[in-house]
Amino acid sequence: MRYISTRRGPNTPTRSFSDILLEGLAPDGGLYLPEEYPTLSQSDLDELRIVLREDGYAAMAAGIISLFVDDIGADDLSAITARAYRAPSFSDPQIVPVDALEGTGLHLAHLSGGPTAAFKDMAMQLLGELFEYELTRRGDWLTIVGATSGDTGSSAEYALRGREGLSVVMLTPAGRMTAFQRAQMFSLLDENIVNVAVDGVFDDCQDLVKAVNMDADFKATWHVGAVNSINWARLLAQVCYYVATWLRVTEEGADASSKVSVVVPSGNFGNVCAAHIARQMGVPLGTLVVATNENDVLDEFFRTGVYRPRSSADTLATSSPSMDISKASNFERFIFDLLGRDGDATRALFDDALARDGYFDLSGTPEFASLRDTYGFTSGTSSHADRLAEIARTEKESGYLLDPHTADGVHVARALRSQIEGPLVVMETALPVKFAETIQEATGHLPPVPPRFEGIEGREERVTPLANSAEDLKALIAARVRPGA
Ligand SMILES: *Cc1c(COP(=O)(O)O)cnc(C)c1O
Repeated sequence: MRYISTRRGPNTPTRSFSDILLEGLAPDGGLYLPEEYPTLSQSDLDELRIVLREDGYAAMAAGIISLFVDDIGADDLSAITARAYRAPSFSDPQIVPVDALEGTGLHLAHLSGGPTAAFKDMAMQLLGELFEYELTRRGDWLTIVGATSGDTGSSAEYALRGREGLSVVMLTPAGRMTAFQRAQMFSLLDENIVNVAVDGVFDDCQDLVKAVNMDADFKATWHVGAVNSINWARLLAQVCYYVATWLRVTEEGADASSKVSVVVPSGNFGNVCAAHIARQMGVPLGTLVVATNENDVLDEFFRTGVYRPRSSADTLATSSPSMDISKASNFERFIFDLLGRDGDATRALFDDALARDGYFDLSGTPEFASLRDTYGFTSGTSSHADRLAEIARTEKESGYLLDPHTADGVHVARALRSQIEGPLVVMETALPVKFAETIQEATGHLPPVPPRFEGIEGREERVTPLANSAEDLKALIAARVRPGA
């Protein structure tokens, strides 16, 4: 399997999986995708069903990932997924259990059983294994420099802690995370994890990361890299749980016509892009519902055909904060497919139109008409009041406590339930324990603390304060990162 860029010219060379594993954007500014999606026939799905049932999630994931990777041997790949997806690092040995949400006609696929109680762990745990494997193979090392306002940073740290050849320097805006998120990150005392509290807001943190990356000499000396949301391997990890979800929901008597639909709480369009890829591969997914919060750029596109990203100043701070995104970094991958994989047309939209006009408009085009019928997409949105009401209602009627992001999904799912045939699964993206304040507001009580997170807010913490200065950040990296470690 070779990889191409969404903005490729006809003569651009293709790359292998291991080539693109440690990279972000392609040199032409596009995103990497496989040259074509491998397909799963009915008998392939039957075989994966047996593997999932008898050997478990990790073995099934290795089977799927191997279709996309031809430069890591089958045994190594199986060992990698077995280390990435296991209990007790995931709370349930099924890794992604799927069950009915009582009284709603909906299912929940539980993606948040990993070490940080957010679905980002599904991708990061695999990425951590793959990075260590590839760096060891090359005899190379990497300093991951990132900025986070919550989920991504802690998920990356738990995936990379204690790893050979990897250091993590993670910038956070001082005093602006929830108590739980802060405790989760700052209580990691591993030598290769450097938590930094910047005197500034999240955008300042991102600007500092950019400044370090612009200094080519510094970047080369310290082998600066990233684990951002456009990394192909993260998406690939996510494709696997859509296959597992379909297999679990159709456990009895499934055939090629047993369609399952999914509702995906969305921000950067990574999670639902993986659903799209699984569907393109032949997994019988019916409708793919994009659920947004008040930051509804994606809902606007699927309703009207207009994609109009917003600046961070125009992005609202909501009670489902991990979806507060107004420029969906993975969206270009889907548009590339939608445009018949035309790299020039994709570039014209994402490079030219967005830079020139700030939006593009596909309304009235055959592509827009195909969104629903050919690609199965539809969308919906919810507000703070909707998600509070949904959390309270679902707890009362079903006896299950939703986190605010999953509540966005359940709200949209209930609204669309009667229009969608067959099973409808909401992807659960986080656990309520991370968002105590919103749960309290919705229900009048605090969320229960799962045993593995008990006492986390009282643990020893380590964090380095930093002025909002790129020079200070470079000095900190030079002082704290051990080259080659
Ligand atoms: C990251 C995140 C999302 C959004 O996922 P995307 O892949 O960016 O669309 C939704 N919910 C939670 C809890 C998240 O952490």
